Amino acid sequence: MDPLLSETSREKLEAWLRYYEDLKLGDFYKDRRTMGKRVVKARTIPVAAPAVAPPAVKEAPASILPIIPVTSIFDSLDRVEGDTLELIRENLGECTRCRLHKQRNKIVFGAGSPGAELVFVGEGPGHDEDIQGFPFVGRAGKLLTQMIEAMGLTREDVYICNVVKCRPPENRKPEDDEVATCSPYLYRQLDAIAPKAIVCLGGTAAQALLQTKDSISRFRGNWFDYRNTKLMATYHPAYLLRNPAAKADVWKDLQKVMAHLGLKVKKASR
Ligand code: URA
Repeated sequence: MDPLLSETSREKLEAWLRYYEDLKLGDFYKDRRTMGKRVVKARTIPVAAPAVAPPAVKEAPASILPIIPVTSIFDSLDRVEGDTLELIRENLGECTRCRLHKQRNKIVFGAGSPGAELVFVGEGPGHDEDIQGFPFVGRAGKLLTQMIEAMGLTREDVYICNVVKCRPPENRKPEDDEVATCSPYLYRQLDAIAPKAIVCLGGTAAQALLQTKDSISRFRGNWFDYRNTKLMATYHPAYLLRNPAAKADVWKDLQKVMAHLGLKVKKASR
């Protein structure tokens, strides 16, 4: 491995290589053409029409793979043609890829509609989720349900999942290598659902999807682009349980999400 790679890039690359091996998605060192199962979706970046026609692009010789424009190599690696939530769950299996498996009871994959327009992404399962195998079913989950209902939706209308699928001991924050190992499954979930909006609940989810270490206060309430999908970060419901005054900020954020989804804010009946 390149000794000049930063520790984070190395961790990420190693996680990707493990993940590839797990999925048996082709030995791309020996023969890159065996990667025919993988598909890279080019981003559609709007560009102004050129004043003069661009020179004709020569077709690549058969032995050279075409270069497909993507923003990041990591963006493209996890995309699987015709991916479904069932397939992703099957690939995850009874996962032992990181240390979190040791103390977990149940993997918490995600719940809700596979065709949801809105996906909520939390940090990782807590005690109740670990016992039941479903996301956000404890106290914080009840508050999330209220937030969803305040938007005029039900939990069945949306999809809810987490960055890591196994409970971190004592509800500690997931470590960077645990996030790196598990997040390819989250990326695939988001690609398979292709929602109109993603709401990150708390800093961990936003940092994992926006690939940043910045604190949530830097981006809360603003729209970001996640692979051509609008993403907003807001406070985690567990934080709201400790700081109820922040509920007003979260409601403002959710109203922006509602506007994007074309949902009407219900007027209070007199
Ligand atoms: N907190 C999370 O981040 N996710 C859950 O599923 C439950 C609590």
